[in-house]
Amino acid sequence: MHLTEGIIRTRPDSCKRCYSCIRECPAKAIRVVNGQALIMEERCIACGHCVKVCSQNAKEISSFSSAELRNLVSENKTVAIVAPSFAASWPNEYWKIPTALRTLGFEKVIETAFGADLISPVYVNDIETSEIKTIISSSCPAVCNYIQKYYPELVPNLAKIVSPMVAVARYIKSTLGQDYKIVFIGPCTAKKAEILSSSVEGIIDEALTFVELKHIFQESNISLSELKESRFDPPHANMGKSYPLAGGLIKTADLSGDVLEKKIIVVEGKSKVLEIIDEILNNQINAKFIDILFCEGCISGPAIDSSLNYYSRREKVIEFIEESINEVDKKVWQSEVYNSRDLNLRREHSVKNQRRPVPPQEEISRILADINKPNEEDKLNCGACGYLTCEEFAISVAKGLAEKAMCLPYLIDELQIAYENLATTQEALHSAEKLASIGQLAAGIAHEINNPLGTIMLYASLIKKQVEKLEEGTQYDGDLKIIINEANRCKNIVANLLNFARQGKLTLQKFDLFDLITAIVKKIKLLPAMQGVLVEMHHAALDSMIEADKDQLEQVFLNMFMNAAEAMEQCSTKKLSITIDDSNGDMMITVADTGCGIAKENYGKIFTPFFTTKKIGKGTGLGMAIAYGIIKMHKGDIRFESEIDKGTTFHLKFPKTLTQTFN
Ligand code: ADP
Ligand code: MG
Repeated sequence: MHLTEGIIRTRPDSCKRCYSCIRECPAKAIRVVNGQALIMEERCIACGHCVKVCSQNAKEISSFSSAELRNLVSENKTVAIVAPSFAASWPNEYWKIPTALRTLGFEKVIETAFGADLISPVYVNDIETSEIKTIISSSCPAVCNYIQKYYPELVPNLAKIVSPMVAVARYIKSTLGQDYKIVFIGPCTAKKAEILSSSVEGIIDEALTFVELKHIFQESNISLSELKESRFDPPHANMGKSYPLAGGLIKTADLSGDVLEKKIIVVEGKSKVLEIIDEILNNQINAKFIDILFCEGCISGPAIDSSLNYYSRREKVIEFIEESINEVDKKVWQSEVYNSRDLNLRREHSVKNQRRPVPPQEEISRILADINKPNEEDKLNCGACGYLTCEEFAISVAKGLAEKAMCLPYLIDELQIAYENLATTQEALHSAEKLASIGQLAAGIAHEINNPLGTIMLYASLIKKQVEKLEEGTQYDGDLKIIINEANRCKNIVANLLNFARQGKLTLQKFDLFDLITAIVKKIKLLPAMQGVLVEMHHAALDSMIEADKDQLEQVFLNMFMNAAEAMEQCSTKKLSITIDDSNGDMMITVADTGCGIAKENYGKIFTPFFTTKKIGKGTGLGMAIAYGIIKMHKGDIRFESEIDKGTTFHLKFPKTLTQTFN
């Protein structure tokens, strides 16, 4: 697949992904690669519509430099043939164009329109005698390309008649000599493709656009204001001058009076052209002849380069026709046409099929589902991708002509997901960092405190023993008990801190999770906080064997059950429900209580180290931080939902085995 060569190309990095060109391209010959809307050469019909709609000027037409042109004209025997729409491109000084072209070095400057005069009788002949049901005019090269590439069935309907450009070139070569070099100048990009097509190849040496010619004038320091007006060289054209206007061919061939009788249709402009071609294919048209132009007349060609609107352009061309047609000596014109009666004005059209097979419906449905449009109501048909409907877009994706990322609503959905993932990852990273630094600090403090704490406890116990022996010692006994209890509490905190700090290491073993939970429940049932609590256990897992750090998970469940019991201290209904489940492959544990619930403003703090709502001496605020760390180490998740005075439910989820070992 060629994506960069060809008559029309995308300027590197200029495309800003607006997809206007894709919307406009009748051949669906543009696909986005690395953010650039590139043209697939073999599919392109060179109509130039993409050039017209690109606001970024990202589409460029392959062009001929002034140096190349100078080189060509330096050989003498060069003729410029100019399309009649030139009057719309240089509206105030079109009569200076013949002079300017001669200044450039062309030996002769001739009207292409004379070629139109030559082919018109051939059209009349074909319309009257051909057995083909509907003849399609072949003067517009974009139409020929389109039919050859996408409607091969209609190739036989294309008139086997050359365009005015080729007709006049053949005339020039037959009268002036075969060695003459001919350069066509017009408003059309597709002419660049036509001069290379097999049946007429080599007749025209170069096809320039008006835009290119203006550049060449500039580079060659040719200023029209300094030039005198001059006329074209013979042969002069008659009604062929009207070809670039709507129905010009019909007028030239003098078929207008027969419009109804002969059933002649004139169709101009992309959408109408696509419509009529479809209708001809479906046998819905009975007309004998259809004159089709891809643009709204050649005066709307992609390289017309005119500041005037459509009607003013039309007026300018009419002005040129009126001014020049009276100067034509009809007798001379008639004899020139007569003398060329043996000129070969025929051409062939070959099939260049680029139609891709319609993909199977399942594939289209799968693509629609991939871009979040599985149902009819999901299809917005917003057109942002450049296709009229989501269905059409999905078909193009299936054909390899478009990519999913061109769908804007899909892209927004993906962006939202990516953003959410990023936010979650960022949050996890943040809390992991926080936990790690707090862990280091905690470990340091714990080790420092452990030694003096041991000394306090040792000496307090020694003193207590001594005091117990003394008669008057009983009055100090209570105080010493307080010292020892408080020191014990400190030891507890230090042990928790060390637990917290130890996170980062897992010792994996295989065990039954349900058995572990049952054992924990049994152990804590005797504790005062658990008195009156009804514990319900539900085993909904197919298999509760897991590979994890048993001691650390025990710590998690212990912390959670104790929190639940403490939350239910003041409640009349005290129920703790524990469920384990593995229906989605992971281990999922739910711990629900009927306690006081968690206030909304504390939701974000539950897993933060040292956050507690409990009385001084009761809570250390480390239980949930430790649980969070341990579950995260098991590549799991912990979350909760809660309602004040109704209760809290914690959900834990982690994989049954960890393939990676931690150290
Ligand atoms: P501590 O239990 O020492 O306060 P935790 O880290 O275990 O520290 O818990 C932090 C806080 O989270 C508790 O103080 C409490 O406010 C809240 N909490 C945790 N579990 C529950 C629960 N089951 N019901 C209500 N609140 C809870
Ligand atoms: Mg706790």
